[in-house]
Amino acid sequence: MTTEVNAQLVAERIHELQDRLAQLSPDRDVRVVAVTKGFGIDAPRAALAAGLTMIGENYAQELVAKHEELSPDERARIEWHFLGRLQRNKVRSLASIVSVWQSVDRVELIDEIARRAPGAKVMIQLNLSEEPQKGGAALVDCAALVGHARDAGLDVVGLMGVGTAGAPADSAAAFGTLVALADELAVGDRSIGMSDDLELAVDAGSTMVRVGTGLFGPRAPREGV
Ligand SMILES: *Cc1c(COP(=O)(O)O)cnc(C)c1O
Repeated sequence: MTTEVNAQLVAERIHELQDRLAQLSPDRDVRVVAVTKGFGIDAPRAALAAGLTMIGENYAQELVAKHEELSPDERARIEWHFLGRLQRNKVRSLASIVSVWQSVDRVELIDEIARRAPGAKVMIQLNLSEEPQKGGAALVDCAALVGHARDAGLDVVGLMGVGTAGAPADSAAAFGTLVALADELAVGDRSIGMSDDLELAVDAGSTMVRVGTGLFGPRAPREGV
């Protein structure tokens, strides 16, 4: 079961969010990835209709299913961002669909993406909370992964991170670390900030926020899988 979205309400929330981002960051453009996981095909359609073309998904099957429902015209406009934990054997089914692989966190994934989607745009995901069960590479491995991806011919367009669940000061510090690494390694995008920690992330230097519930409302709990 997926949750319905109201396209008009989504459009209003998108415009409010864009106004808020412009206020929070008058000098730096902060782009929005609309995260549609858990919602049906009407969610990416509502985002597209309101002018957002970067759409994020976390699960390979769900992304492919949505893509297949889109019209050729919609497919040409959309830029899918893959955000979730990614198994190597899922890369093939996504290779011709995904525009930006944001959750790249290990060498075997880099090698597989380079093989299936040569020259693709990737971001290295960092595990900012340093909890072992969370996705993302250790901070100490970041430079080596960026180097490996570049050597493999991939276009490293940014670093991605999920804020820590604890105190805001911890998230702010973690975001600051990611931004400093992005500067040091000369990667342009800092994909940090979600519905609940967007301001902290923009203060720290985000260039791309990934917003789901803030645009589409609460998600239905994920069943099975
Ligand atoms: C689900 C998800 C988001 C969006 O989260 P919201 O809290 O719904 O805004 C952003 N980034 C990643 C990696 C996610 O998994």
